[in-house]
Amino acid sequence: MTTLVWFRQDLRIEDNPALTEAAKRGRVLPVFILEDPAHSGESHPFGGASRWWLHHSLAALKSDLPGLVLLRGSARHLVPELAKQHAVDAVYWNRCYEPHAVERDTDLKAALKEDGFEVKSFKASLLFEPWELETKSGGPFKVYSPFWKTAQQHQVPLPVPTPKTIDCVSVDDGDALADLGLLPTKPNWAAGWDDLWRPGAKGARQRLATFLEDELEGYGNLRNRPDLPNVSRLSPHLHFGDISPRQVWHATQHAMDADGGLAKDGQKFLSELAWREFSYHLLYHFPGLPADNWRPAFDAYPWRDAPEDLVRWQKGETGYPIVDAGMRELWQTGYMHNRVRMIVASFLVKHLRLHWHHGEAWFRDTLLDADLANNSASWQWVTGSGADAAPYFRIFNPITQGEKFDPEGSYTRRWVPELKDLETKYLFAPFDAPRSVLENAGVTLGETYPKPIVSHSSARQAALEGYEAVKQAG
Ligand code: FAD
Repeated sequence: MTTLVWFRQDLRIEDNPALTEAAKRGRVLPVFILEDPAHSGESHPFGGASRWWLHHSLAALKSDLPGLVLLRGSARHLVPELAKQHAVDAVYWNRCYEPHAVERDTDLKAALKEDGFEVKSFKASLLFEPWELETKSGGPFKVYSPFWKTAQQHQVPLPVPTPKTIDCVSVDDGDALADLGLLPTKPNWAAGWDDLWRPGAKGARQRLATFLEDELEGYGNLRNRPDLPNVSRLSPHLHFGDISPRQVWHATQHAMDADGGLAKDGQKFLSELAWREFSYHLLYHFPGLPADNWRPAFDAYPWRDAPEDLVRWQKGETGYPIVDAGMRELWQTGYMHNRVRMIVASFLVKHLRLHWHHGEAWFRDTLLDADLANNSASWQWVTGSGADAAPYFRIFNPITQGEKFDPEGSYTRRWVPELKDLETKYLFAPFDAPRSVLENAGVTLGETYPKPIVSHSSARQAALEGYEAVKQAG
């Protein structure tokens, strides 16, 4: 018996139920298909950073599974075609949850079954299927706390065993990885990323091990400090499925069991993993999440149209150092620390009053971990338009946020080096520094570093006035 295993966001051979079950049946035809949005029906396609990661993740999978066949085109056509060509009798995959993927997979499943194939899909990318957790009255959750409370009452299954041997069908057709065209060429803006990231299952396992050993201790408080190394940086690995959330969950539990001192920090870390679950829960039950305000009253918000301000935000030239540090970290590394994501997102939607769609799109293009569920849910959360969101009137002050979460200024100085000699007292508001202080630090506002794009207090006032329209509509 031969099973086609269709890899998507599960680029690993460990804890991969579709692969494990297929290997038990007999021969395996492992396939990855790069679909373009015209084929996949994807309304929010991913950008260059994600493609870079995908290339390297596929390279790592191919080295673990040399029989992997890489193809470009429409999965709706290629999967049945391959299955017929190679005398396959079953098609297995692990589930995806983006609306276009659910639609595509549902259609494909029906078509394959009609053609007489056995078709099975498995849970591998989430701890809980979006339909497994329900409120007491039987519907989907809209608030995180009861979601997490309910989740904790459920067992997270153990990772499935890795197949001892995988007998792959030998196939001549398929593309070379380089032909998928996933890497940037002119210019190669990702040249330095090989030193920063290690996509693939081995890299993910090592990252998790280092995190649990050296960085989990203190996570509860220090996860808010972008100047410190106390977050896992597992998000791109989780997005592409280099590692499964079950592997992360059980490894964390194991670390907590082995060292009772890690209990609190470990629990906090698991609760953050559950935010990912919650985002998927929302996206599955409210598939309009990437496009539509979850709270329709936000349709009434008077967003500005100011393309030059958007570009200044994207380039990290707003004149607010903590915002600029985050935007430059993102551009240079494909990652931004969660606390700073919240600060820059709040700045875009509240200080600049630009629609969260602009921020969502920029993040989707530039983040290595760009993820439709997490990105849309988080942007709506910051805006105040989402489920269980931060209230719109709570407007982050980019000066005090910098002072609080980058107290020595090392994160900000790293990404905004033109301010490296500025006293910490003025680092987050150089526009308030006496001229002599700026001179001593070699800073000339408007020349070596931008003047602030808006004044915090008047921007705050304007944001609150805009919110009146939402209040009236809602
Ligand atoms: P850790 O603190 O080590 O957390 C472990 C894992 O838990 C993460 O890898 C992630 O999978 C999950 N997680 C942690 N925090 C959150 C959260 N707030 N929401 C959902 N899941 C979370 N995350 C993405 O994975 N992709 C995105 O596209 C994305 N866009 C975001 C946009 C905005 C505006 C904001 C404010 C947050 C966004 N996040 C996104 C959530 C969060 O910032 C990242 O998951 C986190 O910074 C990743 O770093 P880490 O792996 O070191 O996190």
